[in-house]
Amino acid sequence: MSGQRLRASLAAALLAVIASTLPARPAAADGVCRYDVAATTEGGFPDAALDVAIRCDRPVTPRDFDFDHGGGGYATWAPEGGLAYRVALGPLAAAGRGSDFAATTAGVLAPIGSWLAAPDPGAGVTRLEIAFHGAADVKLLVNLEEADGRYLLAREDWRFAGYSVLTARAPLVVTAPGPAAFAPPGRAGPAEATIRIALLDDGFRMTAGDFEEWIGRFAVLVARYWAGFPSDRLLIAVTPGGRPRAPFGRVRGGGGVTMLLRIDREETPAFLHREDWVLTHELIHLGAPFAPRRQPWFMEGMATYLEPMIRALGGATPRNAVWEEWLRAMPTGAAGISDMGLEGGGHPYWTGALFFLMADVELARRGDTDGLARCFRAIRRELGDAASRSTIGAIIDVCDRAIGSPVLETLSRRYAVPAEINLDALWRELGVAAGPAGVSFAESGADLRRALFDGGRLPAPRP
Ligand SMILES: [Zn+2]
Repeated sequence: MSGQRLRASLAAALLAVIASTLPARPAAADGVCRYDVAATTEGGFPDAALDVAIRCDRPVTPRDFDFDHGGGGYATWAPEGGLAYRVALGPLAAAGRGSDFAATTAGVLAPIGSWLAAPDPGAGVTRLEIAFHGAADVKLLVNLEEADGRYLLAREDWRFAGYSVLTARAPLVVTAPGPAAFAPPGRAGPAEATIRIALLDDGFRMTAGDFEEWIGRFAVLVARYWAGFPSDRLLIAVTPGGRPRAPFGRVRGGGGVTMLLRIDREETPAFLHREDWVLTHELIHLGAPFAPRRQPWFMEGMATYLEPMIRALGGATPRNAVWEEWLRAMPTGAAGISDMGLEGGGHPYWTGALFFLMADVELARRGDTDGLARCFRAIRRELGDAASRSTIGAIIDVCDRAIGSPVLETLSRRYAVPAEINLDALWRELGVAAGPAGVSFAESGADLRRALFDGGRLPAPRP
């Protein structure tokens, strides 16, 4: 036997030994943990605490559980080693770790994962079921699916799970037309999306009616661009904060999409309707699955590109203002792409926005007046909303199939790495130029400009 063959047979024998010592195939990982959550709000919401008792159908101990925001400092496990713990939720939120928390006299805002401990993925638990037992006047608002009085959260969605609101108040409710309101009768999808709004303050200059009107108006515009609001249901928490005339917004999607809006107490309907872009930007984020954090150019580019266009198509901002913004800011995107490429991570908002402008112009050159709207509608149908997760490659694939041509794939490959972009040539083709009195237009690009801002991109729902 040659040395080589000896080594081969030894290796085979060793493999057989390893195989015989492997444990039997583990049981299917479909375990369940059930959480019973009670709230204590005697000292008011800033002092609120949650008492959580857990029963799992797998052998787990407190050491197998984790909180998404550390948890060590604010969660106390029962001393005798049982599966029960208390979270001082109000003090945690008041301490304001990051920008995801708020504690006011009207309620507490916190991401679900901050107070809901999840078992280690190795424990084989895939499903978390949550029952809330509040006092009669305390509600837990979440946007999770509900069955038999329990909220359901997949273990794999836990780290991305949405916001929760503990409050005594019923949320405001507005609706936006769903896919069935745009499609021929009988096509799938709800006719209406429900948007619940939790107002966590009494000091806003805006009345409850003002908030309903503002959020409802821009939700309808986004619903029209998508031919059906991108999500079937949405929970929005509004808290005071942010800087004057600069609201802050964030979407958290796991288990069901939720949005945080921080708004200065003195903000007025006039400002929010005419000048705010944050609400529309965040609503647009609902319209695609979350793609990896290290490639923010796609999600931020999509929101940055569509936001002024949708507001202009809906009459909330003049079209000239969109061209002026693009002429002013697209050079930042062009510089980002020529320095680092889309994947290099520089200026994701404007490198991404320029990518979508180039894609939309390419479609307009082909006489396609629906442009990217067709792509985003297909994403909603095939990949879901921001509660899902996907990859940029998969999203681009759905887009290009809806368009019928690999427009996005070609551009994303060409500009993934540093590449020069002749922005002046693009502006000449579009017939737009920046001048001292704002944007000026040439007759030459009129057809392309008309295609980009065609009213067909914002169809009205059926009456
Ligand atoms: Zn964004």
